[in-house]
Amino acid sequence: DHRLARISSSIRVIPDFPKPGIMFQDITTLLLDHKAFRDTIDIFVERYREKNISVVAGIEARGFIFGPPIALAIGAKFVPMRKPKKLPGEVISEEYALEYGTDKMEMHVGAVQPGDRALVIDDLIATGGTLCAAVRLLERVGADVVECACVIELPELKGREKLGHRPVFVLVKG
Ligand code: IMP
Repeated sequence: DHRLARISSSIRVIPDFPKPGIMFQDITTLLLDHKAFRDTIDIFVERYREKNISVVAGIEARGFIFGPPIALAIGAKFVPMRKPKKLPGEVISEEYALEYGTDKMEMHVGAVQPGDRALVIDDLIATGGTLCAAVRLLERVGADVVECACVIELPELKGREKLGHRPVFVLVKG
């Protein structure tokens, strides 16, 4: 796809953020290039528009940037998957492992129904732990996770193995 080179070169890499040794993939520079941002959304919309997706689940925070325009274009609802204690209604939550310690992800009860066909969106897959927590939340309420989609994959961390049979679609590798 001729659009991928521009998307890839619009992503900035910042060494030693948030701590020494990490090469941080920064998508805020992709957002500054309206053509690259438009192409990113278009590629996802072309892929998912005929897949009967009923819910786009976006992971805080950068899944909130890419998820809503995709949901609007394919005619699906958008559901935010949030950090703990942010959602005001009744929630279900899933713990997941970080490099040091654990974190939690929460979703509103009733936002996703049994039989919903879900697409999970985030900016980047590293170890896959974050996407996996989102998948567990969705499957606990009876949704089918059709696919997980990210702009960037760090393939050395083998995150897609953690997702098992659920397909992972990415645009570029870091
Ligand atoms: P994982 O759970 O190890 O796959 O990490 C993925 C999560 O960490 C996603 O929510 C990403 O937004 C975030 N993340 C990890 N590394 C980076 C990075 O280099 N740039 C942007 N986000 C990152």
